[in-house]
Amino acid sequence: MKIREGRRNAALKASVNGSETSRNGKPDTVKQIEWKYSRSVEDPKHIKLDEKYDLYIGGKRVRTRKYFKTIDPSNEKILAEVAYASDEDVNRAVTAAKTAYEKHWSKTSPKERAKYIFRIARIMQEKAREFAVIETMNGGKPIRESKSVDVPLSIAHFFYYAGWADKLDLAFPGNKISPVGVAGQIIPWNFPLLMAAWKIAPALACGNTVVIKSAETTPLTLYKLAEVIEEAGLPPGVVNIISGDGRTGATLVNHPKVNKIAFTGSTEVGKIIMRQTAGTNKRLTLELGGKAANIIFEDAPIDAAVEGIINGIYFNQGHVCCAGSRLLVQESIHDAVVKKLKHRMKNLRVGDPLDKNTDVGAINSRVQLDKIRELVASGIDEGAVIHQCECTLPEKGFWFRPTFFTGVAQSNRIANEEIFGPVLSILTFRTPQEAVEKANNTCYGLSAGVWTDKGSKIFKVLSKIRAGVVWSNTFNKFNPASPFGGYKESGFGREGGRHGLTPYLNIES
Ligand code: ADP
Repeated sequence: MKIREGRRNAALKASVNGSETSRNGKPDTVKQIEWKYSRSVEDPKHIKLDEKYDLYIGGKRVRTRKYFKTIDPSNEKILAEVAYASDEDVNRAVTAAKTAYEKHWSKTSPKERAKYIFRIARIMQEKAREFAVIETMNGGKPIRESKSVDVPLSIAHFFYYAGWADKLDLAFPGNKISPVGVAGQIIPWNFPLLMAAWKIAPALACGNTVVIKSAETTPLTLYKLAEVIEEAGLPPGVVNIISGDGRTGATLVNHPKVNKIAFTGSTEVGKIIMRQTAGTNKRLTLELGGKAANIIFEDAPIDAAVEGIINGIYFNQGHVCCAGSRLLVQESIHDAVVKKLKHRMKNLRVGDPLDKNTDVGAINSRVQLDKIRELVASGIDEGAVIHQCECTLPEKGFWFRPTFFTGVAQSNRIANEEIFGPVLSILTFRTPQEAVEKANNTCYGLSAGVWTDKGSKIFKVLSKIRAGVVWSNTFNKFNPASPFGGYKESGFGREGGRHGLTPYLNIES
């Protein structure tokens, strides 16, 4: 997949792609530092993408009637055609998973299961570079992130759960445990490979078989994973990989032979799935939206906190359900933090996701870009002050400048709704109690961050925040041994750690 240098350079030189102007005047632009550095583009030449991807069902590539195009969002180039799984295909995949469960996987010893999962992890390591490049090309995220976060963390999840496969009796001592059966798994587009690893690894470790569906815009790394699963020699049908849209997902959710649904995606769809599974025997875990508070106290190490703010909101273009999208700054240090934040933003390099220098890549899709624009416009309309990087954006593809708002009121849409883009809303507080009240003033409860020099304050504040994951003096740190999940409309159930085993097991005392 060679992308012509000339075209990329031309695109990078081309200017401005929809600057957000305020109706009350111009936005405050953060002038970028003119970087004089050599581009260091990860060469995608070694990546062999198929022209057409079939479904992976029962260990075989299965053709279907309809295919859809998948693109690189940074330049809108078509990368491949991908199968759109029909209701019939979903049924075929679930039947393959059920057969594999009954004939093979439920009869495979825990020790053998562990070996297969280890093998998946080892083969992924060998193909790590390919995975990273494909994830970046199909999703728009910087190669630096796919190489240092998405791929190694995905592999780490397989290693971690391989370790649990033959120790489940130790995880739940004194209980009788058994697998649930067939797991239907539906994942979003922001971390395709990582979300697949979060779901497939514990399911297999606990003895279940899987049908997993990728999101509309990012099907490619899952089909790469199908190659790994094949190479690892898993019995056919233990892992089935399909692609499609919401309708495909709904068919999977409603299939009577599916015993458990694991869903990561929007709160809106999570609610639909909850309604559809209510009154059935299906187990359900939902990991949904978020509007995390990142709280900076006046005694915090400010430079470190500013790094945490940047990482919290601009990592993966803000396409992160646990993003620190609501910054709560103690009033006494508001101006100092904003000044430092602007200074730090001058160094953000926005552009070609395959360039190893890039900090902020492309927005995943036009639909998402429109959603971000709409919410940003609402922020301006509601009177908040917009600050934006004045960087040059490529002509083609979907791009949005790193942005933050000051003067945000709690009632503003940008303080309440998930933007899922590189847009931060800054609010202030005076006392720890006010910080906690504002942090909890959301329908979500996925994550939060607390920055302070005082250990006692960390514990006091953390214990009052209603969020599944709370980071102190850091942000967006993940580890397979650490459970992840939400409260309130951010969903329920945990993925990762020992907690991540429970949704995939029947546990009787
Ligand atoms: P987003 O709005 O960020 O794309 P969605 O919740 O719509 O998030 O999508 C997340 C995943 O859920 C995708 O794989 C999508 O195809 C799937 N999906 C969408 N609608 C449904 C549905 N009604 N039932 C099951 N899965 C769905």
